[in-house]
Amino acid sequence: MLIGVPAESSAGETRVAATPETVKKLKAQGHTLRIESGAGTAASVPDAAYAAAGAELSDAAGAWGADLVLKVRSPSPAETPRLRAGATVVGMLDPLDAAGLQRLAGAGVTAYALEAAPRTTRAQSMDVLSSQANIAGYKAVMIAADRYQRFFPMLMTAAGTVKAARVVILGVGVAGLQAIATAKRLGAVIEASDVRPSVKEQVESLGGKFIEVSYDTDEEKQAAVGAGGYAKPMPASWLARQQAEVAKRVALADVVIGTALIPGRAAPTLITADMVKSMKPGSVIVDIAAGKGPGGVGGNCPLSEADKTVVQHGVTIVGATNLAALVAADASALYARNVLDFLKLIINREGALHIDLQDDIVAACLMTHEGAVRRA
Ligand code: NAD
Repeated sequence: MLIGVPAESSAGETRVAATPETVKKLKAQGHTLRIESGAGTAASVPDAAYAAAGAELSDAAGAWGADLVLKVRSPSPAETPRLRAGATVVGMLDPLDAAGLQRLAGAGVTAYALEAAPRTTRAQSMDVLSSQANIAGYKAVMIAADRYQRFFPMLMTAAGTVKAARVVILGVGVAGLQAIATAKRLGAVIEASDVRPSVKEQVESLGGKFIEVSYDTDEEKQAAVGAGGYAKPMPASWLARQQAEVAKRVALADVVIGTALIPGRAAPTLITADMVKSMKPGSVIVDIAAGKGPGGVGGNCPLSEADKTVVQHGVTIVGATNLAALVAADASALYARNVLDFLKLIINREGALHIDLQDDIVAACLMTHEGAVRRA
């Protein structure tokens, strides 16, 4: 089968959907790999490395015209017509982007969105949300450390003692856990909040302190269980108590990392403008949820701006929407392995594409087929 890997065209997207490692494996399975020249450059994979792995280098049309097209981001309106009717495309196609899916259906392609895979043990090796969120959590802390004008670790020097930075992490999913681990390695003192009480143990095992908020009503207890491992919106009564606890910590914090998200909904507002005002000058907020706040404005902090760094009330607020792309080489390596594992589910022993709807991962990821948008 002919497998194509076009260059990504979204602004700031540096990742690539296949690496020489995955090219070699697909080639060994008998496939022909066609990589658009320059597709890996921003991820530090030169054309020569793909050629050495056995890929053909081509122009954009050659890569887009393949039977199976591997992508990081969803094809743009200009790119979609480059796909052949009947072709298959695999990528992070945004299952919530109705217009994008309609476009793919209209082009007659079979489209799989990897973000829709269930969070099960079997799906772990192809879990792109986890592989990329892990990187985002790491990079958020690295950016905060870079912007912060003080040390992270406590230091005792001949010129006096320097206090450890206080880091507050909001949302303890995959990104939040990696942010805790990374800040801990740098020597910070960490406190973290999540709606799901089950993460308390994980926070503590990484050396952080969990910000306790009581669950006073049945409604609060039930909402806190979430759904499928994801958070559900919490009742206003609980959010008010959480806000009061978080506000106390944020006022004392040097760095706040916002990673709290609820799938399919606006990101919760956890760091209000008043809380930003209460922070010390020189403090840093890195908001991974930037651009996902109510109405697309702000993120976990309403003052954050997507893909911008702003200074408000003396606090530097980094609105980071695609942190994984800033670690392009490793992000691509992990993403390409996720893709390779997913392909095992949609390519049969004879090396042909097939759709097995009995497979829960395939059924969940299949977004469009035979001209129609299909949801699991
Ligand atoms: P996510 O990106 O959807 O959300 C990030 C975090 O924000 C979550 O922990 C969520 O509970 C939290 N959050 C939401 N509203 C909040 C609020 N008001 N205040 C504080 N925190 C809030 O989550 P994710 O990183 O994709 O992880 C979701 C779940 O999936 C987790 O339970 C994770 O452990 C689980 N998971 C399971 C597997 C697996 O079993 N294969 C793999 C990866 C992740």
